[in-house]
Amino acid sequence: MSDLTGKTAIVTGGGRGQGAVEAELLAAAGASVLICDVLEAEGEALAARLGDKARFLRLDVTDADAWDGAVRAATDWTGRLDVLVNNAGIINRKIIRDMTPDEWRRVIDVNLTGAFLGIRAAAPAMSQGGSIVNISSNSAFSGHYDPAYTASKWALRGLTRTAAMEYAQAGIRVNAICPGLIVTDLNRNSPHLGPMIGITPMARAGEADEVAQLVLFLASDASAFITGEDFVIDGGFTA
Ligand code: NAD
Repeated sequence: MSDLTGKTAIVTGGGRGQGAVEAELLAAAGASVLICDVLEAEGEALAARLGDKARFLRLDVTDADAWDGAVRAATDWTGRLDVLVNNAGIINRKIIRDMTPDEWRRVIDVNLTGAFLGIRAAAPAMSQGGSIVNISSNSAFSGHYDPAYTASKWALRGLTRTAAMEYAQAGIRVNAICPGLIVTDLNRNSPHLGPMIGITPMARAGEADEVAQLVLFLASDASAFITGEDFVIDGGFTA
């Protein structure tokens, strides 16, 4: 059902973590995947491992002009663009009184404006319709002691809904995924994992592959009538 044969995808923040697993799964499902990240060594290595199904392009998602180049790189490669996964994200755990305006803006720029710029650049190239998947967070359902991150992820849900309405007639679906605690190589040994797992009904963290499977479903025609939705994947934490 979730077949992407002949499709082309861009995955931002695809050099490591969840984005790398998403890129790998989309390629395994048949897509040609343009891995975009500021981490060049990681992105190049992943693209090399995936062979002719993947290419890497250095992209800072906050750079509006560079987005045009990324979309062109995808369409010059395969002649089409079908899927955009806005996965790149950063967190700054400072509370409001400790956070500078520049620190605030950087989180909003990457997590929210980056997705806006991506949608704006990619949608016109999705001439045969497409699917855009925004990686938000289950933080976007309550308050947390990381105001910029939480605000950006709430706003990304709002952007998802409005973009879904705007692009529905063009055959482009826009959905959001809201993961809870997901284990990646970065946090696998973190002391914060235990307490979080302790208050998760399923008593475990999620795996990046579980998020990637949802990305694949939303990217593919298996979800053809779903748009403007957000999907929490957090072992019951938000329930
Ligand atoms: P990660 O830090 O391993 O990966 C984030 C990737 O984004 C990195 O490769 C990084 O280089 C890239 N990136 C950062 N700034 C960028 C920029 N300006 N331009 C391009 N790329 C940039 O984190 P992750 O856990 O894999 O997170 C992936 C996404 O999932 C993020 O949006 C994150 O907020 C979200 N998320 C993660 C969790 C979790 O528990 N890991 C939970 C909920 C949501």
